[in-house]
Amino acid sequence: MPATPIATTNPATGETVKTFTAASDAEVDAAITRAANRFVDYRRTDFTQRTRWMHAAADLLEAEADEVAAMMTLEMGKTLTSAKAEALKCVKGFRYYADHSAELLADEVADASKVNASKAFARYQPLGVVLAVMPWNFPLWQAVRFAAPALMAGNVGLLKHASNVPQTALYLADLLGRAGFPDGCFQTLLISSGAVERVLRDPRVAAATLTGSEPAGRSVAAIAGDEVKHTVLELGGSDPFIVMPSADLESAVRTAVTARVQNNGQSCIAAKRFIVHTDIYDDFVTQFVSQMSALRVGDPTDPDTDVGPLATESGRDEVAQQVDAAAAAGAVIRCGGKRLNRPGWFYPPTVITDISRDMAIFTEEVFGPVASVYRAADIDEAIEIANASPFGLGSNAWTRDEAEISRFADEIEAGQVFINGMTVSYPELPFGGIKRSGYGRELSGHGIREFCNLKTVWVA
Ligand code: NAP
Repeated sequence: MPATPIATTNPATGETVKTFTAASDAEVDAAITRAANRFVDYRRTDFTQRTRWMHAAADLLEAEADEVAAMMTLEMGKTLTSAKAEALKCVKGFRYYADHSAELLADEVADASKVNASKAFARYQPLGVVLAVMPWNFPLWQAVRFAAPALMAGNVGLLKHASNVPQTALYLADLLGRAGFPDGCFQTLLISSGAVERVLRDPRVAAATLTGSEPAGRSVAAIAGDEVKHTVLELGGSDPFIVMPSADLESAVRTAVTARVQNNGQSCIAAKRFIVHTDIYDDFVTQFVSQMSALRVGDPTDPDTDVGPLATESGRDEVAQQVDAAAAAGAVIRCGGKRLNRPGWFYPPTVITDISRDMAIFTEEVFGPVASVYRAADIDEAIEIANASPFGLGSNAWTRDEAEISRFADEIEAGQVFINGMTVSYPELPFGGIKRSGYGRELSGHGIREFCNLKTVWVA
C-alpha cells in the first residue's frame, strides 16, 4: 500500500493546503542520535527544573490556544469549540504532571528489617528514548498525554504523528522547545507508518507507545516483542452505554447523543453501542433519534455546528460502507445513513436498530457519528451484550439502583466504567483498555510509571 502523504488537507472541503516531505533515513538517524545524546544529561535534571519547563509549556499553550485550535480544526475537522477545549485540556495535563510527578515517582521504601538490609527501596528511573506513534483524532491531547509524563519522568521523546496532522505534530515539538526543554528532548519525526519499524528496531530506542487502530498496534507490538522492548497500546473501542429503567432518561439520552457524536464521532471512548432495557427501549429510541436528527452538521469553524466532517475521505467511506452493509443485512436505519451530497467528508448522525449478532457491525468499531441500539431483557442480558465485543476500553451505565451499579462496576469487561455519565479522560485517572483495546495505562501515576525502570536498591 502506498504511504499516506504527509499533508494538511481540510476535511471540510477536501482541499490539500500544505504538503510536507518525509524525513530521510539519515535525518531520522540524526534525530535519534540527538535524542540519545540529550538523554545522557536530561535524565540528571531534577523535578524542579522539569516542572519549570512544563509550566512554561502550559502557559504558552494557554496563550496560543485559539491559534492551535484553528490549526487542529483545519487539519482534522473537529469543531473549533471542541478544538479549543482540547488545547485547554492539554494545558491542564501539562500542569498536572508538572505539579505531581515528584510525588508520583517517589521512592517506594521497604521495611529494611524484613529484607536483611539497613535500607531498601524501589526507585523510578527513566528508560531513555521513547517512541510515540499517535493518531489524529485528538491531535494535541493524545501527544501531550504521552509527552508530559514521559518528559517529567526524565525520558526523551520521538513523536511519529498521524500523517494528516503534521502541523500539530510540529507545533508540539516547537512549543516544548520554546518552553525551555533542551534541544533533542522532544522531536517530531515526519515519517510514514512504514518507517516506524526502523526507528523501533534502533538499539537506542528503549520503548514505544502507540495509540491507534488494532492493525497498527499489532504491527508495532510484534516488532517491539521481537526486540524485547516495552510497549503501551491504546487501540480501538466500541464502548457500551447501558440504560436501565431507574435511570434519569432525559439526562441519559442527552448524554448519549454527546457521547456518540463528540469529536464528530471519532473518539476511541465514544459510546458506540447503546444497550437499553426493554421497559424504556421505545422511549429511549424515540428521544435519541429525535435529538440525533436535530444535530447541525456543517462547517466546523461555525460555533453553531454540532458535527463537522470526518477527518479523512477513507474514514468517511469506511463508515458509509459499514452502515450500508448493516442495512443490506436487515438492520433498520432510524435516521441518517446516507452520505451528504456536498464537498468535504461529512456523514450525518445515524441511529441503527435491529442489529443481529451475525452482522459485522455487531463486533466492529464504527469511527463516525453512528449509534447502534440494542434491546436487553434484563441486567444479565445487558451485561452479556456489553461484553460480547472484542474491545474493552471504556463503558457507561445508567441506573439509580445501587445493586446494579455494583454489578456494572464488577462485571463489565473494560478499562473504565462510568456510571451516570460519559467516559472522559482526566489526568488524575488511569486510562486504558483490555482485550483488543490494548494494554498498559496512560495518565495518572500509572501512566508516568509505564516508561520507568523500577529499580530495587538494597543496602547491607
Ligand atoms: P491508525 O491508522 O492506526 O493510525 C494511528 C497512528 O499509527 C498513525 O500515526 C499512523 O500513521 C500509524 N500507523 C498506522 N499503521 C501503522 C503501522 N502498521 N505501523 C506503525 N504505525 C502505523 O489509526 P486511525 O484509524 O487513523 O485512528 C483511529 C483508531 O485509533 C481507532 O481505532 C481509535 O479507536 C483508535 N484510538 C484509540 C485511542 C485510545 O486511547 N485507546 C485514542 C484515539 C484513537 P499514518 O497516519 O502515517 O498512517
